[in-house]
Amino acid sequence: MKLIYEGKAKKIFEDGQDFQGQPTVIMEFKDSLTAFNAQKKGNFAQKGEINLQFSQKIFQLLSEKGISHHVVEVIDPTHVRVLKLQMLPVEVVVRNKTAGSLAKRLGYEEGVQLKKPLVEFYLKNDELQDPLLTEGQIETLEILTSSEMKQAQEVALRINQVLKDFFASVGVDLIDFKIELGKGPQGKLYLADEITPDSCRLWDQKTQEKLDKDVFRRDLGDVSEAYKKIARKIGIQI
Ligand code: ADP
Ligand code: UDP
Repeated sequence: MKLIYEGKAKKIFEDGQDFQGQPTVIMEFKDSLTAFNAQKKGNFAQKGEINLQFSQKIFQLLSEKGISHHVVEVIDPTHVRVLKLQMLPVEVVVRNKTAGSLAKRLGYEEGVQLKKPLVEFYLKNDELQDPLLTEGQIETLEILTSSEMKQAQEVALRINQVLKDFFASVGVDLIDFKIELGKGPQGKLYLADEITPDSCRLWDQKTQEKLDKDVFRRDLGDVSEAYKKIARKIGIQI
């Protein structure tokens, strides 16, 4: 398979196939994980498999709720066939409680309940360390069209509602998460990339234990065990 792109946690290969007239690519979930714009690097056995299964479970749940995503089929434990999309140049973050960069930048404690979910956009640009964007910048610099921005906000909030309820049903608090969206040939927006413990903050409601990438970012313990624990909680057999 011809490698098109290698990122921090995944590889993308050419597929030479299409699905219902739309070109597809193969996405590989790697065992590596990075933090602080790849300044900190790590990996653990089965990380790729766990994240693939995790993302798949979440995407399936979301498609049952009418949210379109890019996955066509799972090929093997670390590879999925997905629609080849034109990615929006942003990361969309939804927050339910303060944590991470929001808490740090504005001087908040982590875990403070927000009055309502907050949607933020960050420019996807590793060199600039994914800077926060204002809606004004997005509009004036034509980073997204106003329709794309509105659709992205709407779908992000719908995803948040579904995921918050789902994680609460297994005793877990969804603190925040990041999604990426891509456009198909007809301009339709799809949920793309992944939703995994790499891209969410997930806290055990009883113990407040962190079950996500913060365990790696902040050296809080065994990251492999944390990922396995959250995966089992949502019904994945490892
Ligand atoms: P990064 O690029 O941040 O290092 P990854 O290692 O996760 O991240 O690489 C996956 C790349 O694939 C990301 O740049 C992401 O935007 C892109 N991508 C995700 N889904 C699709 C898709 N359906 N079509 C095309 N590109 C995608
Ligand atoms: N996030 C992500 N990729 C990024 C930046 C953030 O998946 O490049 C996720 C992160 O895991 C968290 C949410 O988005 O669930 C909000 O992250 P934040 O802005 O607090 O940044 P961080 O603390 O990761 O610097």
